[in-house]
Amino acid sequence: AGEKGTASERSFVMIKPDGVSRQLVGKIISRFEERGYKLVAIKSLTPSPALAKEHYSDLSARPFYGGLVKYITSGTPVVAMVWEGKDVIKQGRRIVGATNPQDADPGSVRGQYAVSVGRNLIHASDAFDSATKEIGLWFAPEELSEYEPIAWPWV
Ligand code: ADP
Ligand code: MG
Repeated sequence: AGEKGTASERSFVMIKPDGVSRQLVGKIISRFEERGYKLVAIKSLTPSPALAKEHYSDLSARPFYGGLVKYITSGTPVVAMVWEGKDVIKQGRRIVGATNPQDADPGSVRGQYAVSVGRNLIHASDAFDSATKEIGLWFAPEELSEYEPIAWPWV
C-alpha cells in the first residue's frame, strides 16, 4: 500500500451496493478527489462470495458475517478503488465516518447519508497492513496506475 506515512501511502476504498443503488458514487468519489487524494485504481464489479469472505475474514466469527457477505455479493455491483496520498488511510476513515452511522460525524459519508450499520455505504481500510492485504486482494498490480498529476503540491 505504498509507503506508510508518505505521499505514496494507499488505501482500499469500496462503495458498497447500497451506495451504488442510491446513486451516491459521484458524491463519494468527489470527497476523496476534493480532499486532494489521487485515484490510482477503480473498477465496478459484483464480488464473488470467495472474495467477499476473504475481504471480511477477520469478522468470520461475528453473527452478522453471513449477512454481510450476502449484502456485498447481492448482485448490485460495488465500486472498488485505491486512493493515494499523505495519511490517506487515517483520513479516509475520517471521510467515511464511524462504522455505525448513528455514531458517525454528520460531515462524514456515513453520517450524512446512512442510518444503519448493516447498510453503511462504504468501506475504507483501517490500517496499513489491512490496506496492503485488501489492495492485493482486489487488484492485480497492473491495474494500479503510476502517474504524475499536472501539479501535486498539496499532499
Ligand atoms: P468498518 O467497515 O467501519 O471497518 P467493521 O470492520 O467493524 O467496520 O465491520 C465491517 C462491516 O460489517 C461494517 O462496515 C458493516 O457493514 C458490517 N457490520 C459491522 N458491525 C455490524 C453489525 N453489528 N450488524 C450488521 N453489520 C455490521
Ligand atoms: Mg473494517
